[in-house]
Amino acid sequence: MRLILLGPPGAGKGTQAQRLVAKHGIVQLSTGDMLRAAVAAGTPVGLRAKDIMARGELVPDDVVVAIVADRISEPDARNGFILDGFPRTVPQAHALDRMLAEKGLRLDAAIALKVDEGILIERMKTRVEQMKARGETPRADDDPDVLTRRLITYRNQTAPLVAYYQLQSTLRSVDGMATIEEVARAIDEALTSPGRVKRASAGRSTRQSARKAAKGAPRSIKATKTARKAGGTTRKKAKSKAKSPRKKAGKPALRRVARSTSKRRRRLTKHK
Ligand code: AMP
Repeated sequence: MRLILLGPPGAGKGTQAQRLVAKHGIVQLSTGDMLRAAVAAGTPVGLRAKDIMARGELVPDDVVVAIVADRISEPDARNGFILDGFPRTVPQAHALDRMLAEKGLRLDAAIALKVDEGILIERMKTRVEQMKARGETPRADDDPDVLTRRLITYRNQTAPLVAYYQLQSTLRSVDGMATIEEVARAIDEALTSPGRVKRASAGRSTRQSARKAAKGAPRSIKATKTARKAGGTTRKKAKSKAKSPRKKAGKPALRRVARSTSKRRRRLTKHK
């Protein structure tokens, strides 16, 4: 299974990712964790990312894309993975599509955690205070000002991905403000929702509706209602009301004759 978790910082992506890892036997690939490890190790990527991350901005796409491309090629990711914090921009999403296509893989779902940003900031503030009270050092980017910047960055650069995955029909939205257990249950349900089944047969139904449309599909309910309101007629009524040329001339209607050639031929044979 290959999944994406979308949601602003503090939405609980990491917590849900860990649960999905245990449930589906897949690996969690958190670009935030990978970048923090690079910063701690003082690698060239880490040196490049350090200040950007501390400001709450996004590390350049090429850097993150390269990290993810390497990581998903590792053996432990063969069984599937959950991307936590990637993609974060539309170009990153395009890059991921290309990476997966090259490997003949596809994404199973993009899970979006919907949250209230105001409540999120309050939650983060509480978390930081609790960490400080325990004598722990909060992350540099957990500072309230930086968090606000990270939320703005999310809104501007990452939120458009919701529409991106909606268009790809892989989006599953879940209420991220519920309890951890409730969110987990909602994700499980979303992953086995009928939407997935429907999508599987979408090709055939699309062809069927295209054929129907080509034959002259019935007017939509809205169009029919509009026509009625305007004092007009529906297509069926209009047909039955239309006068034939004989009727207009006051002549009696002719008996219906068989239209198909075979019926006509049979009739002619009978007359002979
Ligand atoms: P996170 O732990 O996912 O909130 O990530 C922490 C920080 O790492 C972010 O604020 C960014 O500076 C950087 N980062 C993580 N993932 C990405 C990404 N996909 N693209 C760009 N920057 C990222």
